Amino acid sequence: MTPDQFQTWSRRVADWGAEYRRTLADRPVRPDVTPGSILAAVPETVPEQGCGMEAIWQDFESIVLPGMTHWQHPRFFAYFPANAAPVSVVAEYAVTAMAAQCMLWQTSPAATELETRMMTWLREAIGLPECFRGVIQDSASSATLAAVLVMRERALNWAGNRAGLSGQGRLRVYCSEEVHSSIDRAIWIAGIGQENLVKLPVDPADPMRSMDVAALRRAIAGDRAAGHVPAGVIAAFGSTSTGSTDRLAEVAAVAREEGLYSHLDAAWAGAAMICPELRGPWAGAGDYDSVVFNPHKWLGASFDCSAHFLRDPEPLVKTLAIQPEYLKTHGADGIINYSEWSIPLGRRFRALKLWFLLRFHGLEGLRAMIRNHVAWSEALCERLRAEPGFEIVTEPILSLWTFRYGDDDTTLRLIEAINRDGRIYLTQTRVAGRLVIRFQAGSFSMREEDADTAFEVIAEVARGL
Ligand SMILES: *Cc1c(COP(=O)(O)O)cnc(C)c1O
Repeated sequence: MTPDQFQTWSRRVADWGAEYRRTLADRPVRPDVTPGSILAAVPETVPEQGCGMEAIWQDFESIVLPGMTHWQHPRFFAYFPANAAPVSVVAEYAVTAMAAQCMLWQTSPAATELETRMMTWLREAIGLPECFRGVIQDSASSATLAAVLVMRERALNWAGNRAGLSGQGRLRVYCSEEVHSSIDRAIWIAGIGQENLVKLPVDPADPMRSMDVAALRRAIAGDRAAGHVPAGVIAAFGSTSTGSTDRLAEVAAVAREEGLYSHLDAAWAGAAMICPELRGPWAGAGDYDSVVFNPHKWLGASFDCSAHFLRDPEPLVKTLAIQPEYLKTHGADGIINYSEWSIPLGRRFRALKLWFLLRFHGLEGLRAMIRNHVAWSEALCERLRAEPGFEIVTEPILSLWTFRYGDDDTTLRLIEAINRDGRIYLTQTRVAGRLVIRFQAGSFSMREEDADTAFEVIAEVARGL
């Protein structure tokens, strides 16, 4: 591609992107495609000869676009948001144009130093103590895996990486039964094994569905008596299914008393901690060794951007750093090489979109968005509670709650019909074995009318079942 062509096509795509965002609300949130239809539309063999951009772009519009789920849609109420605020997309364009590998300080000093500063901004924004240091990971899954590896190495006196796990004691990690699946997978990948992830019941009397802390104490004591090796505790703050939130200070106190490494998964809900009035259940977050939250969810930094905070980065670096000669940075003390804080070596320049985002919107702008989402979501919950036939199953935790309409079968038929309708998009989960529909408000482009539309669609589709 010549520089002129690069310019032409960059402009075309920028114009297209703006129009896409402008008209997004008019599209169904989810595409209406049959499985395999897109695969069938793309030739089976790789082209031998290049072709013009015009043809490539036409195929993008005709083949790819109709098969996209629109995550930036104002009425995307499924899963959790993956917001890409326009300003972060602009930053990403600059990042992609430069395409630097930011693994070491010297491979892009600005990327490293901006990352350091952005992580202190975010730490302050969510009210973590000053002692925390931060690194941007690609995902919360990676941050949690890194934390679990630290748990393992610390508990094995740093022998795991060197000697492997055979012949070692049985490592044990504790969490509630409500944690995200990334915790299970981190345990598998770290070689600890699913059977050694001890999932404690949640307290049935607690609307936050927090871990039963007495059960945690008993489990650790039982494991020590059995000769196992307790290694770490993972707490949940706003879990994915229903927003389940542990009593952070109590769980951290157990970890500290038992000498266990502690990790806090606040992947979704951490973003809302920029609002001081929402921080009640956040008390104790600063007692953890490791805390993760995803600016790429609610906050608006386009994927990927996961903020990983560490009370002390030393054990993490001790677990993950390898220094072959070609990666050494000679004679530069005090330099941070963030690849030593994360599992992949290569790193994208992720701090730029945070810098653009936080400066353009300011914390006040982002707080206003989150406050609106929480308020609109709570109001919708009350409207649906008053509708005949609907049952609110879990109460709002921030902007997430669940509901049901009749039995499992009717609830399933309702969500399928809602998603076929296309005006809104919802997903389901299970609470105590019963099928429920999740609602969460979090789209960067959502307006109050979108909550009204959600109410109309849910009530109207239910009446038509
Ligand atoms: C989304 C989510 C994760 C996983 O985040 P990734 O960045 O996609 O790995 C983990 N925990 C919770 C609570 C989440 O909501």
